[in-house]
Amino acid sequence: MTKRVLVRCPSTSKLIPTGQTVEEELWPDTKLKEHKVPCPHCQGTHAWAKKDVVLAR
Ligand SMILES: [Zn+2]
Repeated sequence: MTKRVLVRCPSTSKLIPTGQTVEEELWPDTKLKEHKVPCPHCQGTHAWAKKDVVLAR
């Protein structure tokens, strides 16, 4: 199943869509470096890593 990759804004605790999707079955083996995403909630830019990700439908 394809999931959307979301991360949580550390300032507002709201979820931010990263624009990426992953196959849930492959997620445990997916290797990610740290990424940055512009945040629509606090207007900042947040660095995120795999441990920060929330998968959503
Ligand atoms: Zn934010």
